[in-house]
Amino acid sequence: MADCIFCKIASGEMAAKEVYRDDDVVAIEDLDPQAPTHLLVMPVRHYGDVFAASNSDAALAGRIVAVASRLGSERGSTGGFRLVVNTGPDGGQTVGHLHIHVLAGRRMTWPPG
Ligand code: AMP
Ligand code: ZN
Repeated sequence: MADCIFCKIASGEMAAKEVYRDDDVVAIEDLDPQAPTHLLVMPVRHYGDVFAASNSDAALAGRIVAVASRLGSERGSTGGFRLVVNTGPDGGQTVGHLHIHVLAGRRMTWPPG
């Protein structure tokens, strides 16, 4: 996807603060953190959202959740963490490449806005 910023980050063409990488999954620090720890975990391969990814490659979708959970538990406090997957315009998604937000380091509120 030529115009996708997360494809560019995942391929190394665009710089980001990477905290994890394997052949299929990349995790970076969010540019505009909403918590003391705010990471984005994404597949290297382009999927527009979680629905597309889980329909085509459920194992990959599961691996992304596993990486996000591990990073949340390693980098968050013992008090836990939050995973968020904004999906589509009503879900608040602004970048059309699947990513899981990992938020930790403060007490989260509910419901989200
Ligand atoms: P969403 O609104 O759920 O699609 O989340 C997109 C997230 O990507 C936002 O939290 C942005 O702050 C973050 N973001 C956008 N561009 C970059 C970038 N170049 N590097 C790191 N994070 C980014
Ligand atoms: Zn992409």
